[in-house]
Amino acid sequence: MRAPASNASNASAGALGKCTMATFIVLLGPPGAGKGTQAKRISGILGLPHVSTGDLFRENLADHTALGVEAGEYINKGQLVPDSLTIAMVEERLTRSDCAPGALLDGFPRTLAQAEAFDEMLEKSFNSKVFCVPCIEVDPDLLVERLSDRLVCRNGHVFHLRFSPPKKAGVCDLCGEPLYQREDDKAETVTKRIEVYNVQTAPLIQYYEDRRLLRKINGDQDIEAVTQDILSVLNEANAVNLTGTKIAQKGNGIE
Ligand SMILES: [Zn+2]
Repeated sequence: MRAPASNASNASAGALGKCTMATFIVLLGPPGAGKGTQAKRISGILGLPHVSTGDLFRENLADHTALGVEAGEYINKGQLVPDSLTIAMVEERLTRSDCAPGALLDGFPRTLAQAEAFDEMLEKSFNSKVFCVPCIEVDPDLLVERLSDRLVCRNGHVFHLRFSPPKKAGVCDLCGEPLYQREDDKAETVTKRIEVYNVQTAPLIQYYEDRRLLRKINGDQDIEAVTQDILSVLNEANAVNLTGTKIAQKGNGIE
């Protein structure tokens, strides 16, 4: 039996683990919506690896992998990393054994072209498909405020002056490195990033809406309430998928 949504955070991966296919969840949301924080929480609760393209880039660059070196050349020239490279990095990550049950994707796909390529990759290489796309929505005026209060360390650990302040001001709780504001998070660039997100992501939202995978999440709530809402739509999606399987089996005369 599935745990009711109100207890969902106590439920283990078993809640979604009944699906025979690997479970690939795409988490969408504008910069500042708390997507990374939610991805970490949901990933911990479900026992699915959190695959963040930001982390993947940092890792590939630091380890000087072939893909990292190639991406570095674009980044050093101030150019955008082409979709094909990003897609290759994600595919390499998903083939590692910890992703056998699936993964929670954060920061990918980011464009319509990537979403189409991702569907093709899942079908060809993983005999699977996107399970559900929770999309965190936040009042745009609040996003600017949220991002300008964000601090990071050079290892990518994220803090927030109001929502999750570090224990000691200016120092990362996890690795002791100094905290700073990313160039990206300064108020003047935040507005630009949100604009870019809206332009890139609008077609993505439509794509997943057309496939009935998109679930809107109210991001103007505290962190725990947003987590519960995401778990709740994932449980619903699981129920739909399980029912779909049963109907298909009946149709085949298996039952
Ligand atoms: Zn740190």
